[in-house]
Amino acid sequence: MPATRTIQDYIRTIPDFPHEGIMFRDVTTLFADPRGFRMAIDQLLHPYAGLRIDKVVGLEARGFILGGAVAHQLGTGFVPVRKAGKLPGRTISQDYQLEYGNATVELHDDAIEAGETILLVDDLLATGGTAEAGIRLIERLGGKIAGCAFVVDLPDLGGRARLEAMGMDVHVLCA
Ligand code: 5GP
Repeated sequence: MPATRTIQDYIRTIPDFPHEGIMFRDVTTLFADPRGFRMAIDQLLHPYAGLRIDKVVGLEARGFILGGAVAHQLGTGFVPVRKAGKLPGRTISQDYQLEYGNATVELHDDAIEAGETILLVDDLLATGGTAEAGIRLIERLGGKIAGCAFVVDLPDLGGRARLEAMGMDVHVLCA
């Protein structure tokens, strides 16, 4: 291992998870390392540190771990986007497509006030479908998205281009 480890050095790839042929990027090894985790949080929030951010929105589930720490550092509140049926209060829902089938994510309908500035956080950007669903929920409540920050980008899957085509500022730490 090099003396100065980069974010990438802390992430391992697990073949055939959750299905055969998938090379899963496992960020738990990044989260488990005190230096790696701090580096990831510092780098995720860096472009947004001087901006007005009212809330950080994290996507279930690894986006909660990252987003909570980013919100703490920025001094903002944290709001979860969850899979359907998990949030106890009144929600709005957004369907999106997976490789096989559909999924739904939800947001409490009072979690964001119109005009609030939001930073969206997740661990990994692949097709961008999950992030797009989160963006749509935030925008339906009148939130303004300052940026979308991810630890890993899988550029071949087109997520970054998809979010940029929606006018999003996309910040990724490694590919
Ligand atoms: P997308 O919707 O962009 O196709 O997929 C991104 C979502 O799936 C993220 O919420 C991310 O957590 C999860 N995901 C997909 N592939 C991987 C992977 O290889 N590693 C990790 N850590 N998450 C993944």
